[in-house]
Amino acid sequence: MDCSLIQSELALYHLGTVGDEERARIDTHLLECNECLRAYFAVKRHIDAERIKPSAELRARLSLSVREAFRSTTRSRVQRWLQRPIPVYQGIAAAAMALIFALAAPLLAKGSVRTQLKAGGVQIDTARAHPEKLDLL
Ligand SMILES: [Zn+2]
Repeated sequence: MDCSLIQSELALYHLGTVGDEERARIDTHLLECNECLRAYFAVKRHIDAERIKPSAELRARLSLSVREAFRSTTRSRVQRWLQRPIPVYQGIAAAAMALIFALAAPLLAKGSVRTQLKAGGVQIDTARAHPEKLDLL
């Protein structure tokens, strides 16, 4: 392959304006030819140094527009809070709480407001101010 032909296209190659077929051809050649690889690095260094850097005004404008685009509102904060993944340890804690509640529910139900005691064969409603017989007869 002709090295001078490759080297004449290195600038376009670096700027990404060559076709896929041409790019593949140059890639292959650069892997095999040290001279062209060195020439490519020189072209690349030259182009990168010449690239226009954004002015302070442009950078300020850009940063302002980025800040406005990503400004957080109450709604976006709530959305982000709702979208965050639930950490494993919090899931485990929630599952443990649910299990404890499920196991304790029957015990808690027994201790509800209306407790009925059986004293000496007589049922007594403890929710009433004065003990009362519950037997209908
Ligand atoms: Zn070459």
